[in-house]
Amino acid sequence: MTIFPPQRILMGPGPSDVHPRVLNALSRPTIGHLDPVFQDMMEEIKTLLRYAFQTKNALTIPLSAPGSAAMEAAFVNLLEPGDKVIIIRNGVFGERMRENAIRCGAEPIMLDAAWGTSVDLRQVEDAFHTHKDVKALAFVHAETSTGVRSDAEALAKIAHDHDALVIADAVTSLGGIALEVDEWGLDFVYSGTQKCLSAPPGLAPITVSARAIDKIKNRKHSVQSWFLDLNLIMGYWDGDGGRSYHHTAPVNALYGLWEALKMLHEEGLETSWARHQACHDALVAGLNRLGLEMLVEKPIRLPQLNTIKVPEGIDEAVIRQTLLTDFNIEIGAGLGALAGKVWRVGLMGQSATPRHVSLLLSSLEECLNRVQYDCPRGEAVSAAWSILKQGD
Ligand SMILES: *Cc1c(COP(=O)(O)O)cnc(C)c1O
Repeated sequence: MTIFPPQRILMGPGPSDVHPRVLNALSRPTIGHLDPVFQDMMEEIKTLLRYAFQTKNALTIPLSAPGSAAMEAAFVNLLEPGDKVIIIRNGVFGERMRENAIRCGAEPIMLDAAWGTSVDLRQVEDAFHTHKDVKALAFVHAETSTGVRSDAEALAKIAHDHDALVIADAVTSLGGIALEVDEWGLDFVYSGTQKCLSAPPGLAPITVSARAIDKIKNRKHSVQSWFLDLNLIMGYWDGDGGRSYHHTAPVNALYGLWEALKMLHEEGLETSWARHQACHDALVAGLNRLGLEMLVEKPIRLPQLNTIKVPEGIDEAVIRQTLLTDFNIEIGAGLGALAGKVWRVGLMGQSATPRHVSLLLSSLEECLNRVQYDCPRGEAVSAAWSILKQGD
């Protein structure tokens, strides 16, 4: 069987649409990972990543693995057996952090917030007062399972007041919303390529502060994972001529990331953040015209991950299926506590455009109409465009 993938419109929780420039870059000639040309590219990727993360951190590199491996890298490198870590859990990814911490032999202290909300900062302060000698605070900046934004800056401040390192999951936030690694004092930040960077999945940019490197270099126990041990990876990505073989870097995948980062740089970070916000505002205006509501309160709502409440009596899976089969549009289902109750619409990277917003609104309207959902016809797209025009 010859597999020829369809041309989908990707509006789920990732991957997002990949620009033809990036797809073309992937097919450039494969060269050796120790080739001087490849090494030059690595240096450029590091520079472009520092821009995307807004950091001067020397250790800013793409890991040759998906975002989940970068999460694991943060925990296995920064935590040792017996270390206490405060983890905020308000969705799927906070729970995965706990599982990682346990596998490191660390002691996770969980702070829960209901799905669709963010943690109360006083709860975090209290936890640091109750538990002494906490080594790290970990949280998800953009919770893709719920569409909630965490106050990364305020959380980092609390952690530093108590001498704890900050682990921030920025898989869905990088490129989509403000993320200021140095200004906010985040120590270990990891991301993924397939969300707001709009490169194919499989790579995970990370950036690590000098404070965190110090901890990694002075561990009492060696890192339990050989592949993710940053002490070894640093020797591979180092530009000072001392590069030693660690693994074979995914050369072509890195061409794709390189191109995607160049596109982000050409557009400008602030412009990219504003584009995500404008598309989100337009989408919400259109959804409201269809009588649909958002799960998350506006002040903590992510523009790039829109969690829409499924109206009473509507089978959410039927709508999602019809969007895919009849309109080629992929959106996401609710996870865990939100299964069956919400749709998750991604406006990430190249999928954050007025065209995507219009397509989703008109197609969703048609799908809802087919299942006798009562809403005005032909108004949602205009409502969205009236917002987009204001922003011109
Ligand atoms: C997608 C995602 C991950 C995992 O990334 P993979 O590339 O799928 O391994 C981790 N954290 C968050 C917040 C995500 O959205």
